[in-house]
Amino acid sequence: MAKVEHEEPALEWDTPLYRQALTQLDHALELAAVPDFVSNRLRSPERALILTLPVKLDDGSYVTFPAYRVQHSSVLGPTKGGIRYDMAVDLGECAALAMWMTWKCALLRLPYGGAKGGVRCNARELSMNELARITRRFTAELAPFIGPQLDIPAPDMATNEQTMAWMMDTYSMQKGYAVPEIVTGKPISIGGSVFRHEATGAGVVMVIERACRRLDWELGEKRCAVQGFGNVGGIAATELHAKGARVVAVSDISGGVYAGDGLDIPALHSYVAANGSLEGYEEGVERITNEVLLELDCDILVLAAREDQVTGANAGSLRCKLVVEGANGPTSNEGDRILGERGIRVLPDILTNAGGVTVSYFEWVQDLGRLFWDRDEIRRRLADKMSDAFDRVWNVSDERGISLRDAALVAAIHEVSGALEARGVYP
Ligand code: NAD
Repeated sequence: MAKVEHEEPALEWDTPLYRQALTQLDHALELAAVPDFVSNRLRSPERALILTLPVKLDDGSYVTFPAYRVQHSSVLGPTKGGIRYDMAVDLGECAALAMWMTWKCALLRLPYGGAKGGVRCNARELSMNELARITRRFTAELAPFIGPQLDIPAPDMATNEQTMAWMMDTYSMQKGYAVPEIVTGKPISIGGSVFRHEATGAGVVMVIERACRRLDWELGEKRCAVQGFGNVGGIAATELHAKGARVVAVSDISGGVYAGDGLDIPALHSYVAANGSLEGYEEGVERITNEVLLELDCDILVLAAREDQVTGANAGSLRCKLVVEGANGPTSNEGDRILGERGIRVLPDILTNAGGVTVSYFEWVQDLGRLFWDRDEIRRRLADKMSDAFDRVWNVSDERGISLRDAALVAAIHEVSGALEARGVYP
């Protein structure tokens, strides 16, 4: 019988961000050389939900919020990924981020696929009660499609431990018993894990330490700049400082501070805890802009703020020797190309910031077993996972002469492809 050629359908998640994820994937697929049916399967998410949530605001009016959940791949296990509350949330963004979660989980050899979801709303303009009602309605609508063996949400932009507590409670009320393993990143009092809060920033520094060993660098002699002083950047700066590295600059949305001899990181944290941001901090520092921070003369530049910070416009002006992606997607494809040409190595996001999802996995395992580990145990297990993934990425990069980003993607794709080939296509 003649083979029928089918065109790939134009799908609703086909937005610029999804195109960016696909461009990266297609490039990596050429290097990974996997069977055609695997490539085709991985280019589209398995499931994409579009929801509309009617929610009563505090003034008595009703608003309908668009909401989404995309599950990219369940080949390796339940899907896993954050829930964000942001005005930019759309189906394409969730689909792209879900795909990136698949690669991150696979690279770390976690038994998960990727997912992402969110509600299009401005969280800063909503009261706690309104956020609670949005979260509970969202969870109720999602209930048939999430589950501890199906899809496990976590916090992301503008969501936090409290959001996860509301999700866990709503899901548990519907089941009739407590189901802590339905979400990760929840408060410790309801089954959250110790060290989850610090995990991403600590993981970033574990990867930096490993890179220093390969580069024959002494971390204690290196000058570091950190963009973003939140959960990831703030903890990374603390860990670098504690390990004797000289953190010469940090920044947040309000701007940055610089001290050539090294900043007093604990003092900066106290200041931010009291004042909400770095704005106004003058003690023994020079004030700098975020643009200047990126172009400082230093050894290690940690990007821990947001996407698209190193682009075609500034990649030619960076003076660091190593770029470390603590944030998701902080280097554009064009920025990445320029850094590559200039011989500046980039430790890629799917490896470098994977500490968060790894300790989320530990949280889920602890919840399922109703058995909890202490900080030292979790830190040790995290270091093992990060080192193992780092070594595999570095070795593939060395052996094949490809960038660390391509090596990370190829290693991740091979994990998923191996499982997909073994399982085959049903029926
Ligand atoms: P956060 O909100 O705690 O901190 C973000 C920091 O970046 C804040 O200090 C903020 O002021 C600063 N910032 C925002 N815009 C900026 C700009 N234009 N210039 C300079 N600074 C700016 O967020 P986070 O949890 O630290 O996440 C940071 C990044 O790391 C995001 O890309 C996120 O997706 C990624 N990430 C976070 C985790 C996690 O566990 N928190 C895990 C993996 C990846």
